[in-house]
Amino acid sequence: MAYDFDLYVIGAGSGGVRSARFAAGFGAKVAVAESRYLGGTCVNVGCVPKKLLVYGAHFAEDFEQSAGFGWTLGEADFDWATLIANKDREINRLNGIYRNLLVNSGVTLHEGHARLIDPHQVEVNGQRYSAKHILIATGGWPQIPDIPGREHAISSNEAFFLKELPKRILVVGGGYIAVEFAGIFHGLGADTKLLYRGELFLRGFDGAVRKHLQEELTKRGLDLQFNADIERIEKQADGSLKVTLKDGRELATDCVFYATGRRPMLDNLGLENTGVKLDKRGFIEVDEQYQSAEPSILAIGDVIGRVQLTPVALAEGMAVARRLFKPEQYRPVDYNMIPTAVFSLPNIGTVGLTEEQAREAGHKVQIFESRFRPMKLTLTECQERTLMKLVVDADTDKVLGCHMVGPDAGEIVQGLAIALKAGATKRDFDETIGVHPTAAEEFVTMRTPVAG
Ligand code: FAD
Ligand code: NDP
Repeated sequence: MAYDFDLYVIGAGSGGVRSARFAAGFGAKVAVAESRYLGGTCVNVGCVPKKLLVYGAHFAEDFEQSAGFGWTLGEADFDWATLIANKDREINRLNGIYRNLLVNSGVTLHEGHARLIDPHQVEVNGQRYSAKHILIATGGWPQIPDIPGREHAISSNEAFFLKELPKRILVVGGGYIAVEFAGIFHGLGADTKLLYRGELFLRGFDGAVRKHLQEELTKRGLDLQFNADIERIEKQADGSLKVTLKDGRELATDCVFYATGRRPMLDNLGLENTGVKLDKRGFIEVDEQYQSAEPSILAIGDVIGRVQLTPVALAEGMAVARRLFKPEQYRPVDYNMIPTAVFSLPNIGTVGLTEEQAREAGHKVQIFESRFRPMKLTLTECQERTLMKLVVDADTDKVLGCHMVGPDAGEIVQGLAIALKAGATKRDFDETIGVHPTAAEEFVTMRTPVAG
């Protein structure tokens, strides 16, 4: 049967664009449907605007610390509207770049919502298109628990477009988004509380990292409230919000921001017209080559709920393009040693196993740790400390994990990830000459284990 396209991609986000561009480059006839914004979550309401806001928030401490280096500044004044307008301009520019990337690589772009009609057909803007393969790359969407008053809460989608910086804000959740945005709002001057339902935020990260970040954020005056969960939110006559916690406490605020995870975006996708199956958590179930239970339909990125990170969606998109149209270049995605950063202030950077994971996996471990005041702060009043930690297999000497909390941890961990992927041992670390004076050199100068 002759199809309109070899590959029809639903969703022009990180994974979809990568797959479409490379498939077209390999000679396939490709179309992409996008209902909302080119570049997807990462470009529009994710990594990119988030990082711009983190940079914005960071200036607060730069101004404060500059006094130690002899600077006298006038009173700093921050204008949220300017930051948001400049951010929007940059995102518009990136949307244009994504459009050009697609069009210049020969991909047909359909701007509209795509719905599956059957295993080989999609409908967009009233038109039907057939394809040999269909790739679902529709990403995710914020998930807010169903509590009374949830309509008064915002998610990350709205946070990027607030008209004003709230004077008081409650950020709910203890994952990446909650921690990053609590830092953004606190840095920009809002009275910020972070509410997390468990004992300690960032479940799944190394224990020392979680504790260290807790201490550093508390030092900075961020109000961290653990074992705290909201029961209801009520709007008051003056427009403020009354928040009642499950333990009966009441908090007054101007904005409640939920960052409690993301669900797969499957709205009106027409999956019922196909044999695609969902896993227990509701994400699209795929095999190791991203094929769903319907042989002509594949899925990648956040919608399969494996690792919800842009570089992972990119790698999966690339793997699909290669497998379908350049099989001789196909390599499966390696999910081991995925480095990641939380762009809190200070950053977390991490790659490999946490101490807890290493012990649980049965490794006999050696732990190396260093805590120090970064050199830049020695001329300032700031008492912030950096944490660096190595988890080493005592039998093989292999470095199993590297963890850091401190300035530029996200930048530093990328290089370490290459070393770990290449199988570096602690001896390799020890024999590597440091770059002096940097914080990063501490990773190659830790000599005495703190725990075994
Ligand atoms: P997406 O990028 O979400 O793209 C899906 C696209 O499909 C969207 O454009 C959507 O409009 C479109 N779509 C959905 N349904 C349809 C339909 N039926 N028809 C047509 N189009 C449709 N990751 C990092 O690695 N680093 C970070 O710093 C980082 N920060 C983040 C900060 C925030 C606030 C959030 C929310 C996420 C962040 N992420 C970060 C995660 C990252 O954004 C996602 O992992 C990544 O965007 C997933 O890519 P994707 O291709 O699966 O989906
Ligand atoms: P996460 O899954 O990281 O965190 C969700 C948080 O919400 C957890 O602390 C969880 O608690 C809590 N939670 C879940 N359900 C409820 C509930 N019903 N009531 C109260 N708390 C609840 O999700 P995020 O929304 O922060 O981010 C989504 C994903 O996006 C991340 O996992 C990450 O993959 C990606 N991302 C990556 C970034 C980066 O690379 N820098 C930045 C931002 C997002 P508990 O732990 O107790 O379950």
